[in-house]
Amino acid sequence: MTNSYLLPNYSRLPVEFIRGEDVFLYDTDGEKYLDFTSGIGVANLGYSQPDLVTALTAQAELIWHTPNLYQNSLQEKVAEKLVGGRKMLAFFCNSGTEANEAAIKLIRKYTGKNQIITFENSFHGRTFGSMSATGQSAIHDGFGSIVEGFVYVPFNDSQALKEAITEDTAAVFLELIQGEGGVIPADERWLSEVSELCRTHGLLLAVDEVQTGMGRTGNLYASDTYGIQPDIITLAKGLGNGIPVGAMLANQSLAAAFSPGTHGSTFGGNKLALSAADKVVELIDTPELLEKVQELGNFSLEYLSEGLKNCQNVAAIRGKGLMIGIELVEEIEEVMTSLLEERLLVLRAGESVIRLLPPLVISKTNLKKGLDLIINVLKKAG
Ligand SMILES: *Cc1c(COP(=O)(O)O)cnc(C)c1O
Repeated sequence: MTNSYLLPNYSRLPVEFIRGEDVFLYDTDGEKYLDFTSGIGVANLGYSQPDLVTALTAQAELIWHTPNLYQNSLQEKVAEKLVGGRKMLAFFCNSGTEANEAAIKLIRKYTGKNQIITFENSFHGRTFGSMSATGQSAIHDGFGSIVEGFVYVPFNDSQALKEAITEDTAAVFLELIQGEGGVIPADERWLSEVSELCRTHGLLLAVDEVQTGMGRTGNLYASDTYGIQPDIITLAKGLGNGIPVGAMLANQSLAAAFSPGTHGSTFGGNKLALSAADKVVELIDTPELLEKVQELGNFSLEYLSEGLKNCQNVAAIRGKGLMIGIELVEEIEEVMTSLLEERLLVLRAGESVIRLLPPLVISKTNLKKGLDLIINVLKKAG
């Protein structure tokens, strides 16, 4: 790997996957891996899902791209499904960070205010606005002055949030479960206080559901899992099952701030991407799948708690639906290596959290298989 033509901004494991089927990936030697990453929360319906392949192939033969100069009935169709009866409207883009950029711009334009409260340890993306919204100095370091106006407050702390609100505060912007930061769910009572504070102070409530959205927590959106009604929801990762597409849903009352010319994207919501999103939403937003995710999520938490109850190295097990974190006491490098050797793919998050984001379509048998591998590796490590 020394003669690479690529900038070294990723640390890559020495394995390449060239084929995927259901919840399994195959490397260049034909070795089979069980995937508990979904490509970082992307392939929620697994790999080579036949209906998705058919939809995408059919669209590929018709037309890939038309710009947003013309009508786009696919965007209308997907937007209607994503909005689902909420009083919201959609904007399409290509990634999570772009969905958040759109949210930041909409918040500023609508309110005419600069200050947006975000949270310590959050992650919102890598472009300047989203990076600046991110409450981690490690993400900002070395890039000069960041976008002003973001105030970072401790997560799950009502007092700190109250104290941060000023005349210039436009919005509160948060992940309902901090993903990259270590799978840290918002406390339910705290979240209803956040909603209430937003209401009483006239602040917009924006949620970054780039990772928690698209069925991950057992509802189409984690906002539904928590029972809150945000003014803005951003989506990406699972929306196209691997075809790059993002979206921002915004309350209809904010629409006037995005008049023609205020914001846009060349590729945003193009036909190929939206043909994938259309089928993805159709397949994910069903009571059968979403109830299964809740059930498998609860099962996983119980199974891991039981299997790891005497394991000294486990500090906490937490999550919602199929977004699960196992926080370790000690360094996790060795555990990650052992799991790869066992042909199980997992993610890490925060300092020492094993993050599990298996495809939502996983069978209980395969889920149990992966959980057993994790339990065994952690027990062996002490
Ligand atoms: C991954 C992620 C992003 C960034 O998405 P990209 O598509 O990589 O730009 C933003 N917010 C959250 C919560 C994420 O998990």
